[in-house]
Amino acid sequence: MSSHVCDVLVVGGGIVGLTAAWRAQEAGASVVVLDPSPGDGATHAAAGMLGAVMEAGFGEEGQARLGTASLALWPAFAAALERAADLPPGAVGLETAGTLALAYDRDDLVALRRLLALHSGWGLGSAEISPQDARRREPGVGPRVAGAAWVPGDHRVDPRAVQVALSRVVAARGTLVPHAAVSLTRSDGAVVGALDEAGTAYAAGTVVLAAGHASGSLFAGAPTRPVPGTTLRLDAGADRSPSVVVRGTVQGRPVYAVPRPVRPDGRREVIVGATSDEREDDHLTRAGDVFGLLRDVRALLPELDDAVLLEAVTRSRPGSPDNAPILGWAADGLFLATGHHRNGILLTPLTAAAVDQALGAPPDSADAVAAVEATTRFADPRRFTDAYSTTRGGTA
Ligand SMILES: Cc1cc2nc3c(=O)[nH]c(=O)nc-3n(C[C@H](O)[C@H](O)[C@H](O)COP(=O)(O)OP(=O)(O)OC[C@H]3O[C@@H](n4cnc5c(N)ncnc54)[C@H](O)[C@@H]3O)c2cc1C
Repeated sequence: MSSHVCDVLVVGGGIVGLTAAWRAQEAGASVVVLDPSPGDGATHAAAGMLGAVMEAGFGEEGQARLGTASLALWPAFAAALERAADLPPGAVGLETAGTLALAYDRDDLVALRRLLALHSGWGLGSAEISPQDARRREPGVGPRVAGAAWVPGDHRVDPRAVQVALSRVVAARGTLVPHAAVSLTRSDGAVVGALDEAGTAYAAGTVVLAAGHASGSLFAGAPTRPVPGTTLRLDAGADRSPSVVVRGTVQGRPVYAVPRPVRPDGRREVIVGATSDEREDDHLTRAGDVFGLLRDVRALLPELDDAVLLEAVTRSRPGSPDNAPILGWAADGLFLATGHHRNGILLTPLTAAAVDQALGAPPDSADAVAAVEATTRFADPRRFTDAYSTTRGGTA
């Protein structure tokens, strides 16, 4: 059996695992990432909404606090990543243009108003506007929309571009191994490495478990489950597609359209999503899901009828029992970075701040301090275990 020694072993090379790997490299660690298909998990399907406000529903104030704290870090995170990857500013597609929320019928409007009242109670910014005002912002808004809201603080980014940038940075300084981990290795209760499917053993001072919905199969204290969802990729003329994130409900069914930057040929990709199911993981797209998403998005944005359907992608979000992330030390030598569910892109910079803190780099801004505090309060893995009482990484 061959073996490999490193400071930090990251299991999982999606947006979360590669972010952890990058931050560990920045802390001076030697890093190995294990993943049989990096970037082909939930990150591949994600629309890239940074919906700190509109993703916060009833009973989810913790997620709202985590999301708000992470959103504040996105501009600095994107700029630092682009510099590290030697990419031009804007390469990861961060756009801070706000979000338009639409209600299709009267019942949808009642529900939207309830949500706006909830957000106002939490101090999150959003305001009801008329359908006419919505059309002034987005001329493609359909004639039958009953109401709208403007959410200035909810933004967007391109998750696949972030993944590409992270891969460039991590591959330049670390080792990406195209194998799955089959087990974690332990010694005296501490996690000290992992074994991969090719039979190679890895010994590491720290193991970061970031295997998305599969994390729970490697460590019971990370009780993740798959929550499959489908997004569609449309290719649309820029004049017939939205310029900001448009999300809404159509007779109670949520749907959104997230535009990517306009290309030189005057067209842009628009991501339409998303379904959400409680079933086993698979990558199979149901015909009815494609139909339902297109039916609902054209009720809000009829001009998308002319778009070309490029792709339908189905991947599984990493859900946790309370749908909040699982982020922090869970045993000596084991840091969990999983369970980000439907907001893993939004929560990426917060995850970076938590990893920095765990590896000994103190937060370097007031926003990073707030992110670490929110993580400790709302994402501590020990809410799912009772055995771990050692103080480590400031999370006791
Ligand atoms: C349809 C859809 C739309 C979404 N839209 C948004 C959005 O608009 N905004 C937002 O913030 N979030 C969104 N999300 C959620 C977001 O995509 C996830 O929270 C995020 O991608 C999780 O990242 P991850 O790296 O933890 O998991 P993943 O991207 O799933 O990566 C996990 C990685 O682990 C690897 N792996 C699995 N098992 C092993 C093993 N045994 N050994 C080694 N590697 C392993 C996999 O190959 C994979 O590459 C969406 C998700 C879906 C499915």
